[in-house]
Amino acid sequence: MPILLAENAVKGTNLTPVINQYMGEMDARFGWLAKQVREKIVDDEFLGGSLVTNAYDYPLQTEKLEGFMKWLAAQEDEGILEIIRYEGRATVVHTGWQDIYVKRGYSKGIVWAEKKMDELGIAPPETDVAIGAVLGGPVHADALGMMYLRNFTELKGITAAMDQKISRVLADGMMQGKNPRAIATDLAGRNGVIKKLGLQRARTLARTETARAFDEASLNRYVDYKVEEVDWIYGGGPCPSNVCPDGAAGSPYKIEDARGLIPAHPNCTCAWGPVV
Ligand SMILES: [Zn+2]
Repeated sequence: MPILLAENAVKGTNLTPVINQYMGEMDARFGWLAKQVREKIVDDEFLGGSLVTNAYDYPLQTEKLEGFMKWLAAQEDEGILEIIRYEGRATVVHTGWQDIYVKRGYSKGIVWAEKKMDELGIAPPETDVAIGAVLGGPVHADALGMMYLRNFTELKGITAAMDQKISRVLADGMMQGKNPRAIATDLAGRNGVIKKLGLQRARTLARTETARAFDEASLNRYVDYKVEEVDWIYGGGPCPSNVCPDGAAGSPYKIEDARGLIPAHPNCTCAWGPVV
């Protein structure tokens, strides 16, 4: 089967603004966190004037480190995850600020699927139905709910990985008696842990999860039309180890086999097209 080259621009330009806004919000949130960390360490002299360690002040250093990590977790809850904890309640509530981007990506996937069906001359049964009504259907609402949860959980995982690294860098810095300013740079500087590890992964999350919402939406919409097979439409562009051209060449796919195959990498712009 010949490899179809996507009207690459279609998915590309449709999703670019959503991805950029999602990534932009990650920039703002991790940038804010970096600022808090720098202020805490440098301005508040949180780690104390002298960091020279000897065997006797070891417990004190441990307390400082533990205190810092506790403070950091609270900052992340507030500024990155937007977790709200109610006194005496075990359940964690979060605002779901990421949901809007997932929903936009998903909506664009619905529009794409309808366009592809229209190109095949298959009159959509609900052409005049607003996207909102489509999204309210049980399958789509359920899929969206799963994706909201996934986006939040992934972001939580990123902060956990970042915290582990921050704790290590902080402990090493304290043991070496490093200048607090240098430690702050290691953590919150341009090449520090927050930007290099946390933000970088968060930006990748924004990119891939927006595309994933788009792709899942298109598959779910095809199912609404009783489509059973889809073509992997190669989006072009740089692609590690040729996974996308190879994937496209393997078309068609049964819808259940297609799920999760794309995005095949963070910059994947491939899309699903219906086979009828
Ligand atoms: Zn691809």
